[in-house]
Amino acid sequence: MSQGSDPLQHDASTPLDHDAARVIALINQKGGVGKTTTAVNVAAALQRSGGSVLLMDLDPQAHLSLHAGLDPERIDRTLYDLLTDPQTVAAEAVYRLSDGLGLMPAETSLAGVESELAEDTREGRAQTLLRDRCRDVVNQFDYVLIDCPPSLGVLTVNALAMATEVVVPMQAHFLALQGLGKLFETVAMIRGGLNPALKVAGVVLCMHDRQTLLAGEVRADLERFLGEARGTDTPWADAVVFDPPVRRNVKLAEAPSFGQSIFSYDQTCHGATDYAALAASIAAWRPGVEPSTRDQPATETAPADASL
Ligand code: ADP
Ligand code: MG
Repeated sequence: MSQGSDPLQHDASTPLDHDAARVIALINQKGGVGKTTTAVNVAAALQRSGGSVLLMDLDPQAHLSLHAGLDPERIDRTLYDLLTDPQTVAAEAVYRLSDGLGLMPAETSLAGVESELAEDTREGRAQTLLRDRCRDVVNQFDYVLIDCPPSLGVLTVNALAMATEVVVPMQAHFLALQGLGKLFETVAMIRGGLNPALKVAGVVLCMHDRQTLLAGEVRADLERFLGEARGTDTPWADAVVFDPPVRRNVKLAEAPSFGQSIFSYDQTCHGATDYAALAASIAAWRPGVEPSTRDQPATETAPADASL
């Protein structure tokens, strides 16, 4: 990945010029819902089907960086450096995991950025810092997937300011819709100011127990809620419940300890089947096009030589 001009030269108030990349922020203010698992495995599936993907680990817990198996010895620059040190150029913080798959890692000190940015009084700068510092690398990829921390704080706001789309991994629990309301309010606020093109692409149901009555009811409620927004000017007017839901599968919980995606760890398990099909649904999503009428790119026939 080549180094570009100094990202700080850009006007901090201008949205990204998305001529190529789809920038997908994976957001849920709850922890443990499947954000990181979805980021890693959707990225691996998209890359295996020929796309180039940049993973950004914006969670100070650095689970994504660990899950991706990035050797800590190799890490010199992280998103922390990019956000705090004007001398760091975005391309220096991109590590190549395999052909067409890059990672910008996190480190625990990223947690401190949250309070530093909250104190920054320069108008809008604290919310658009990530967008402005990453400009030069974003359009070198087909997809950028941002794994967000479990909060709606300033790091998540930074992800929303640079995203083209929001994808919400969640579990079909009681009260799931209430959490979604708060999240959508935040998305609407960012779209109202910093990022007018921002849209919610949809919801991914993770650790899904298809047989339970509750899961079925929550899915129906979600579809009704999203359906009511069709044709409105809300950011979720085109949002869908992505198919398929990702079933609970212990292999998905095991793969991170080996630094592998589910496709490297066990290509035949339910987890691999579900994430391959889910990635195809996300790749096919376009505003205003109902799922049944979309062409599904084939992710499952892709080469299996990637390291993640
Ligand atoms: P988040 O990033 O939202 O905190 P994670 O992706 O880390 O959530 O998932 C939380 C835990 O659940 C992890 O231990 C992960 O391995 C596990 N997990 C995620 N999805 C599944 C699944 N479909 N089946 C089984 N375990 C899962
Ligand atoms: Mg996580």
